[in-house]
Amino acid sequence: EKKVVLITGCSSGIGLGLAVLLASDTYQRFKVYATMRDLSKKENLLESVRDCHADTFEILQMDVTDQQSVVSTIEKIKEQRVDILVCNAGIGLMGPIECHSYEAIKKMFDVNLFGTISTIQAFLPGMKQRRSGRVIISSSVGGLQGIPFNDVYCASKFAVEGLCESLAIVLQHFNIHVSLIECGPVSTNFMNNLNFLDTSDSSLQNVDSDTHSLYDQYLQHCQTIFQDVAQDTEEILQVFLEAIDAPIPSLRYFTTQFFMPLIKLKLSCDGGSEYVRAMHKFVFSGVKPKSESK
Ligand code: NAD
Repeated sequence: EKKVVLITGCSSGIGLGLAVLLASDTYQRFKVYATMRDLSKKENLLESVRDCHADTFEILQMDVTDQQSVVSTIEKIKEQRVDILVCNAGIGLMGPIECHSYEAIKKMFDVNLFGTISTIQAFLPGMKQRRSGRVIISSSVGGLQGIPFNDVYCASKFAVEGLCESLAIVLQHFNIHVSLIECGPVSTNFMNNLNFLDTSDSSLQNVDSDTHSLYDQYLQHCQTIFQDVAQDTEEILQVFLEAIDAPIPSLRYFTTQFFMPLIKLKLSCDGGSEYVRAMHKFVFSGVKPKSESK
C-alpha cells in the first residue's frame, strides 16, 4: 500500500522538489498530495511532474493561513488518511525590525507559525487514531540561533521548533514521529520571495545611519554566504528522504554542518554572550560593536 504524503507550499522550491521526487519514486511507494495556496501557480510543478506515474500525484488548493481551506482538504484525500505530513510553506522577512510593518510581521507569523499549527491540528487526530504517522517540518538554522536582521523570521522558526519539540514528547505514545529539517541557505527562490528590504527600500530611509550601514553589511554577508555555502534543493531533498525512510526518525536533521560550531557554542556557553559575539564577528567581521570599542 502506498504511503499518503501531503506537502504544503508546493508551487516552488523545496515543496515542489519534494513532491516531484516522491511522486517519481521508482517503487511507487508514495501517493503525493501536493498542495499550494494559489492553483494558478501550478504550471512549474505540472511541468516537472510530467513523467511521473499517473496515480502517484495530485494537486490540491490549500492556503495554510485559511483554516477553512486546511480543514476542507481532508475531505479531498481519497485514501482518507495522511501518513506523512510535510509542513513546508513558509515566508521570510528580513531587515531592521523598526522598518517592518505590523501587517508584514503578522502575515509572516500567520504562514510560518499559525499555518503550521493549523495544518498539524487538522491531520494529527487521524494519525493518532491509526497510531501511526510522520510530521516533517521545513525548519531552519534560524529556528535554533538568532541571525541579525532576521529577528522576526527567527522568532517564528524558534516558535515552530518549540511547537514540534513539545509535540514529539507526547506523540511517542502514538507512534507518530516529528522531524525538523534544519536547512541553512538553500538555492531556491526563497531569497527573492522573501520580503527583504533592499538598500533602496523607502522604509529604510527613516532608520538611523548606523543600523542602515550594518544592514548593508549584512546583505553583503548574505550574498557571500549564499554563494559559498548555499545548498542545492536536491541535497536538501535527500535529507527529507532520509527522515522519511528512517525506521525511527530523529527529531532534528541538519542539512549542513556549516553552522554547527555556532549552534554548539550557543548550547555550551550558557550565558549566551559568547554566541552573540561570535555571530557578530561572523557577520560583521572587523567591525567592533560600539559597546566594546569604548
Ligand atoms: P519558496 O519561497 O520557494 O517556498 C515557500 C512556499 O510556501 C512557496 O511555494 C509559497 O507559495 C508557499 N506559501 C507561502 N504562503 C503560503 C500559504 N499561506 N499557504 C500555502 N503555501 C504558502 O522557498 P523554499 O526555500 O522552498 O522554502 C520552503 C521552506 O523552507 C520554508 O518554510 C522556509 O522557511 C524553509 N527554509 C528555506 C531556506 C532557504 O534558504 N531557501 C532556509 C531555511 C529554511
